[in-house]
Amino acid sequence: MATDSELRERLLRLEDSIAAACRAAGRKRAEVALMAVSKTHPAAAMLAAQELGLALFGENRVQEFAQKSTLLPTDGRAAIAVHLIGHLQSNKAARAVELFDGIDSLDSLPLALRLDSAAAHSGKHLPVLLEIKLSDEPTKTGLMQHTRALDELLERLPDLAHLRVDGLMTIAPLDAGEDETRACFRALRRLRDEISKAHPALNMHELSMGMSGDFALAIAEGSTRIRVGTALFGARPKPQP
Ligand SMILES: *Cc1c(COP(=O)(O)O)cnc(C)c1O
Repeated sequence: MATDSELRERLLRLEDSIAAACRAAGRKRAEVALMAVSKTHPAAAMLAAQELGLALFGENRVQEFAQKSTLLPTDGRAAIAVHLIGHLQSNKAARAVELFDGIDSLDSLPLALRLDSAAAHSGKHLPVLLEIKLSDEPTKTGLMQHTRALDELLERLPDLAHLRVDGLMTIAPLDAGEDETRACFRALRRLRDEISKAHPALNMHELSMGMSGDFALAIAEGSTRIRVGTALFGARPKPQP
């Protein structure tokens, strides 16, 4: 795990780059939220980041965060928001609603129905983002744009009273060049504008896009929430074979 001073250093450098990207894009720093992606890093790393003023965290596995959350002080837990950014299986929806403050990877109508009823059960209004897959990578999850599956979900969402739709999320293709990455972020923004027009009842404010390697491009294309892991917490341990 990074020491507190390493983390502080990295955050300062990151903030410099975010500020530079915002300036270059003619945007205000306050328009772009920084989500600290703490997956694979211990709960202590989340606490250290919280000490430095970070309040929004991203985790990609229900089971992993279930364990870590027991190590976070309950009063401190109220001061931070932790969102799920990884694929969620429907059978874990209820557990995810208990654990997370938002689901940024909603990718099907059946999952939306499960989340809505679990949120109703816990008396919550659950913030969600729709995860959109803009490139045809077979391993990737997310809804493809201009599909029946996305249209059906968009039509039903206004009736799901315990879900609060905030916008869209995407992951740029791995190893893509700058032009392809940028085109992907631009496509998400355009889709957001299209959906806003066609479904005025849905809030489409948030565009969660941009990670350690590409957040400057994402900010240039209108990102409102960048998700940064490596540039803050350092390299993640490689998964065991
Ligand atoms: C891991 C992950 C990130 C952070 O990636 P880095 O390159 O380490 O910044 C962002 N978004 C999602 C969905 C992730 O799974």
